[in-house]
Amino acid sequence: MSTISKLFPELDRHALRHLLRNNQRVESGDPVFADPLECLLEIGVITTREHTYVRCAYPDDYDYQERHDLACEGVVEIDPAEDEYYCPVSGDPIGDIERKTRFVEYEITLSPDGIERYLDQALGCLEAVDAVEKVGPAAFQVQVKERPLLSVVVADYAGVRRRSAGLFFAEPTLYVIASPINDPLKTVLDELQYMQMAEILSSSASVVQERLRVAAIPIPGRTSLLETEARFDAMIVRYGKRAWQFFEQQFVPALMLHATQNPALVQGYLETLKRLSGTIFGEYYVPIGGAGLPDLRMIDKFELMNRVFGGKATGDAKCYPSSTLSYHDVVTVNYQLDADPTGAETALIFVSGDDVASTAWNAVMQLKQQHGAWKVIILTKYLLLELISALEATHLLEM
Ligand SMILES: [Zn+2]
Repeated sequence: MSTISKLFPELDRHALRHLLRNNQRVESGDPVFADPLECLLEIGVITTREHTYVRCAYPDDYDYQERHDLACEGVVEIDPAEDEYYCPVSGDPIGDIERKTRFVEYEITLSPDGIERYLDQALGCLEAVDAVEKVGPAAFQVQVKERPLLSVVVADYAGVRRRSAGLFFAEPTLYVIASPINDPLKTVLDELQYMQMAEILSSSASVVQERLRVAAIPIPGRTSLLETEARFDAMIVRYGKRAWQFFEQQFVPALMLHATQNPALVQGYLETLKRLSGTIFGEYYVPIGGAGLPDLRMIDKFELMNRVFGGKATGDAKCYPSSTLSYHDVVTVNYQLDADPTGAETALIFVSGDDVASTAWNAVMQLKQQHGAWKVIILTKYLLLELISALEATHLLEM
């Protein structure tokens, strides 16, 4: 088999939509799912865990006639550490489990790394694609022939910048939706702006290629993220050693004043976020764990921004162009908030970079939990740029 037919196996879409789900279980040898399952394992986009079980009452079993309830649908998973088994449905003891008929099920887990590797290879072998470059977790820059650079982003796994930019900025983006449970509503995302993994794996290479070509067109009427970011960076550089004071004492107050003077734009932005809320495009994850496996917490953008514009907030701008926002910074801001003579309920920390320590995220999430609402809010560089664009405040970058 050639590489291209291996990478574009044109499997049954219905079966794929069933299989591309975490914790989904499939019986071994199932005539509908066996082939697509094997193919997904081979290209590495999923992993499976095997479960072996027996049925409480199964006609072929030696003990069938002795079961209390012949219609019992209880199943018992075989666990090497266990020597006594009871049916979880009827509570009946299971006798000699070794002699009963065994069934095997595969439990599916989507592999974010495997999906990344697959896309890297699959997009790279398309005729219309000149180059594929990985630019971050679950994100690629794809050079389609005679087109501007296209971001291809696995929405299920990408960070806030890649996950949101295609909805708020002009840069062409094609979202890949790994699992059908995350399918966006038509009101959230234009159909031409996303492809499900189930669609990619059930389509021919030429169909996928055409979708890339169609998506690789800048979105009219929007500002460019890269241009906005370059202007922001240049502004910070312009102030040199005074950048910190400028950002805190001039830029952020000017942005907040602009928001107060343009309530309709704020309202429009919040309405967009409200529509996205509850979908993967309305949330992002921040790491709160220390060493070892990262522990992630979800932030709902609508809830966050609603507090930024709705609460009695005090702005505390921090400018960290090159260092990391620390736990200590969050604690200091929280002390200042508690002592605030105006009775402000929320402190905003604007960060001119995207670097935030996981201990700092942990501190703000704990404060939120204790107060039942956001108390200290961290707005990182990307969110600041999104705000500047959504509130049509790019002229402030010339300050
Ligand atoms: Zn039973």
